[in-house]
Amino acid sequence: MQNRITALFGIRYPIIQGGMIWNSGWELASAVSNHGGLGLIGSGSMYPHILEEHIQKCKKATQKPFGVNLPLIYPQVNDHIDIIIKEGIKIVFSSAGNPAKWTPLFKEHGIKVVHVVANTKFAIKSEESGVDAIVAEGFEAGGHNGREETTTMCLVPLVKKVTTLPLIAAGGIGSGRAMAAAMALGADGVQVGSRFAASKESSGHTRFKERIIESKDGDTMLTLKELIPVRLLHNGFFEKVQQAYTRGASKEELQELLGRGRAKKGMFEGDLEEGELEIGQISALFDSIDSVEDIMKSFVSEYNTAISELQSTTL
Ligand code: NDP
Repeated sequence: MQNRITALFGIRYPIIQGGMIWNSGWELASAVSNHGGLGLIGSGSMYPHILEEHIQKCKKATQKPFGVNLPLIYPQVNDHIDIIIKEGIKIVFSSAGNPAKWTPLFKEHGIKVVHVVANTKFAIKSEESGVDAIVAEGFEAGGHNGREETTTMCLVPLVKKVTTLPLIAAGGIGSGRAMAAAMALGADGVQVGSRFAASKESSGHTRFKERIIESKDGDTMLTLKELIPVRLLHNGFFEKVQQAYTRGASKEELQELLGRGRAKKGMFEGDLEEGELEIGQISALFDSIDSVEDIMKSFVSEYNTAISELQSTTL
């Protein structure tokens, strides 16, 4: 397939791996790129020197294009940007912040910029800021999420209506069939997080990956909207948050309960009770921890099957 997204990034399949904190290191990003998608290093959980190390290792592990996901609320965002420019990274996916602030600098350095949005207002802002493409990430997605709870099914056509930019659908895309659905809604590509979090190459803890593939529908919920909304798997920490809501806890109390480093504790150190386990609703669909190669192959074959089935069912 050749389309606006494969042409923009110089990749074979319009499948982008989400730059998930604690999961998306150089091994995952390079494997996805080597198998025809676009791998992203998730810089949100990396100190600047760690990001530099991952970029350098990724360059050695793949000759294909790869990029960096940059949450704009990262405390040392300036240092990350310096490293991205110094290392000659050509693709940045920015999220959690205003794209107007940094996009012109990236463009000056010939970097393609894609911004992640959860509503049409930010899609318009992203286009005005000069980004090259937009990720429309719906309510189903894991980790940080929009407050409005707009599902991928609604968000993709809504964003499509307000922008002419290449559009990448995210949130709930865990199979080639879901990819076909997103493309039918008008997306030019998909961003896949949860499926790759449960891959062999993800840097997440094995216990976290096992918990992902054991999860059932209804096991995740969007919470902590007063701080930054985040979709989490139910566990001891999640229960504590629920209890705090029941007793009418203030924003400050919620912040204190969250503390620091919960995401690392859960996803990287494998503390399934006290850590934050950030994953999307679609995790309920996965039964095994697979290699990136197998995941990419099944996406392609399921996508092709779905498209050919649909072609024989016109109304
Ligand atoms: P916390 O404040 O709870 O903890 C910070 C964590 O980030 C620590 O574990 C710390 O590692 C690590 N870290 C890496 N670089 C730095 C730095 N320069 N200063 C301080 N800590 C750093 O934050 P979270 O873990 O919840 O989130 C971390 C980042 O990831 C944020 O920038 C956030 O916006 C982003 N994020 C993005 C998501 C998304 O969906 N795009 C989802 C969740 C988070 P150590 O323990 O080794 O000190």
